[in-house]
Amino acid sequence: MMEEYRGVWVFMEQNEGEIEGVSLELLGAGRKLADKLDVALAGVLLGDGVKELCSKVIEYGADEVYVIDHPVLKDYRTESYMKGVIHLAEKYKPEIFLYGATPNGKDLASAVATDLSTGLTADTTMLDVDLEKRLLEASRPAFGGNIMATILCKKHRPQMATVRPKVMKALEPDANRQGKVMEEEIPLKEEDMRTKVLKIVKDVTKKASLADAHVIVCGGKGMGDAQKFELIHELANTIGASVGGTRDVVEAGWLPHEMQIGQTGETVTPKIYFAIGISGAIQHVVGMKNSEFIIAINKDPNAPIFDVATYGIVGDALEIVPKLIQQFKEIRK
Ligand code: FAD
Repeated sequence: MMEEYRGVWVFMEQNEGEIEGVSLELLGAGRKLADKLDVALAGVLLGDGVKELCSKVIEYGADEVYVIDHPVLKDYRTESYMKGVIHLAEKYKPEIFLYGATPNGKDLASAVATDLSTGLTADTTMLDVDLEKRLLEASRPAFGGNIMATILCKKHRPQMATVRPKVMKALEPDANRQGKVMEEEIPLKEEDMRTKVLKIVKDVTKKASLADAHVIVCGGKGMGDAQKFELIHELANTIGASVGGTRDVVEAGWLPHEMQIGQTGETVTPKIYFAIGISGAIQHVVGMKNSEFIIAINKDPNAPIFDVATYGIVGDALEIVPKLIQQFKEIRK
């Protein structure tokens, strides 16, 4: 019975006792959906020694927290986490269940959706509800990113979606917010687990993550060639910013893939985003449109990047960027 399913849930991904940013962002998005549907918003927290994180889940918008605290849940494993989440979902029947589109979130959501025989929309960038039909409207770029598709799960519950990090906005934490913590116990035994975590090897090769940068100078194909693209690096160095690029720039070999911003690259939300020589294709814009200030430089006044820009400069980047570098150097003196 679909009517038995009520409430909006967010899977609270935590690693070594630290809640992932995307889970807090999803509490912000989930809050809006829950208020619209007039139901409670719950965080689902699994791990070992994670009870003290419940207050943070409530501060960021949850009315309830379902916790399963068990040594077997110390590190993420599909099997143990899936068992915990399915136990809760079958018992409490949420109508909407959101996960961060992180490697673990995607892995868990797909396993849970298969077991519960329900639908899952992956890599969502927009969420809403059709109030009359109580349907989650999960939108994502589709058909090569040329259109946005809104995907519904009409016949099964819960309606599930993974959501890209840095797309939704977390609420300001409120320490006075009250919520209920529900502790659940499930019979998990280490000897029943088919996989063991032997060692966790951290990737230390990655440079400071673009996703955490406050200022990004992003260059596009309009810079002309790899040599002229050096101006992007120089501007970034002058103002202490991180460098990013469009897919075309990465495909041209001017930057490595980990510096690509957009649908198939990083999603970023810096305070200041310079978009230089970038046309503003939808696949690029989905990865940067939530930046606080967007300063676009393009010689084409009709370039779509100006539709999302806070400030636009129409002109030749090869003339403007050296002037900016010079001005910023002056200021720093
Ligand atoms: P162009 O579109 O060629 O734009 C260059 C711009 O520079 C133009 O607007 C031009 O007017 C301007 N220009 C030229 N010379 C100058 C000058 N001297 N001074 C100032 N302006 C100048 N793209 C991404 O960026 N990220 C992604 O993650 C991504 N994923 C994709 C996924 C799929 C499935 C598909 C189909 C595409 C994806 N793309 C992605 C590609 C995307 O569609 C665009 O092709 C790409 O973003 C365009 O890059 P660009 O703006 O650098 O180049």
